[in-house]
Amino acid sequence: MNVLSVTSEVYPLIKTGGLADVAGALPLALDALGINTRTLLPGYPAVMDKIGPANPLMHFPDLLGEAATLLAATYEGLDLLVLDAPSLYQRAGGPYLDPTGQDYADNWKRFAVLSMAGAEIAQGALNDWQPDLVHVHDWQAALVPVFMRYSEKPEIPSLLTIHNIAFQGQFPANILPELQLPGHAYWEALEYHGTVSYLKGAIVTAHAISTVSPSYAEEILEPAYGMGLEGVVASRADSLHGIVNGIDIEAWNPAKDALIAASYGVTTLKKRSLNRDSLSKHFGLDQDNSPIFCVISRLTWQKGMDVLAEIIDDLVAEGGKLVVLGSGEPGLEWALKTAANRHPGRVGVQLGYNEPLSHLMQAGSDAIIIPSRFEPCGLTQLYGLRYGCVPVVARTGGLNDTIIDANTAALAAKVATGIQFAAVTADGLKQAVRRTIRLFNDTKTWNQIQKQGMKADVSWEASAQAYVHLYHRLLGKG
Ligand code: ADP
Repeated sequence: MNVLSVTSEVYPLIKTGGLADVAGALPLALDALGINTRTLLPGYPAVMDKIGPANPLMHFPDLLGEAATLLAATYEGLDLLVLDAPSLYQRAGGPYLDPTGQDYADNWKRFAVLSMAGAEIAQGALNDWQPDLVHVHDWQAALVPVFMRYSEKPEIPSLLTIHNIAFQGQFPANILPELQLPGHAYWEALEYHGTVSYLKGAIVTAHAISTVSPSYAEEILEPAYGMGLEGVVASRADSLHGIVNGIDIEAWNPAKDALIAASYGVTTLKKRSLNRDSLSKHFGLDQDNSPIFCVISRLTWQKGMDVLAEIIDDLVAEGGKLVVLGSGEPGLEWALKTAANRHPGRVGVQLGYNEPLSHLMQAGSDAIIIPSRFEPCGLTQLYGLRYGCVPVVARTGGLNDTIIDANTAALAAKVATGIQFAAVTADGLKQAVRRTIRLFNDTKTWNQIQKQGMKADVSWEASAQAYVHLYHRLLGKG
């Protein structure tokens, strides 16, 4: 089976969040199951640098008025189709934001062009490769099924994966003529309260929809999580699936991780303490036996970082220490930095993005706090499980599906892998921290929770199988 995956980011080429991890890992896991995936992504400077000189496959003279060249490249096992459109993608700044942190004004076009190229490839543009199915990720690729639906060529089955329904690709209706779609496409698919919504377009036109956890699939049917699209999602409830993400268990393997101070495994947990020492040194923490909590996150409201900032004094008063790695909203960055200044030796905050440090933090902290208000899947709790860094998570979305709360029954049955808490409020999180510290002080129970987490299957295997099953259903073979 040939699958065309269309995405705006792919690890290890370009990453701003979990989408890149999924888009980078799933093709490798599918490959083992006999699925051939080619991944279409924009030729941002970082991508062009990494792939080096590449083979031009075809030229698109006019994608919504822009010229583009499609390059074929392979990179770390990924079979890539890079859309080189310098006028759209060769820019200083990130994939979506300019150097001042503003959305590029023409994001509607940058990703409509990506989607149009995806639809063309899906509908036979390449002479020597024809996908059986197209798998599109998030709003940036969401126009693929829309362009296919309104094209004269036959469409192929499509799957939309929603990694986060908060990001919808919503633009003023006056872009509509520029999309070169018939007027009725607006009313049938794209219209959202008088604007154009790319994600809505795909929710309406994709043959199936998936989200990255079963809980999130249920949540987005409700106003509290659907971000205005709950009605549209509900109209497709029969075609809605939830498949939890896996992680790259090679890149995230405490037994072989070159980015940490000392490798360890379930049977050599004691060696974790060397990572703990190294982490403490890095953040200037007191070298004592009190629990180290960590946070590795975008610093945003979604991630509950305001609630975290609110309880830091209590966490310290309870005897805990905290290290934070992240970047995001300036107000939250400031709140966390000032908390670190208030608590030298107890709280360390490093702003910015730092992949190697994130490994050491998972290897050296005792627990990772994830107080998300909503969390489609979440990856950091899965890394935490694998590294014996006990996840303390809000009971929502993928956090709910992947962490088993250490309640009395789960402890007795030896299945607990973390701590869940229900209300993302200062009180809710304070209680969770208190409960975590109590468990931490009971070393035997704590080690048991750590080991159970380390043994949990967080690989892509089961998830990839679920995708294959879904692909087969879409092709009428399952
Ligand atoms: P989201 O995609 O919503 O940001 P996820 O938990 O799904 O959240 O994925 C976040 C990914 O980004 C994880 O791989 C996490 O380790 C990584 N990450 C987030 N912030 C940082 C940071 N400041 N430095 C290094 N890695 C980070």
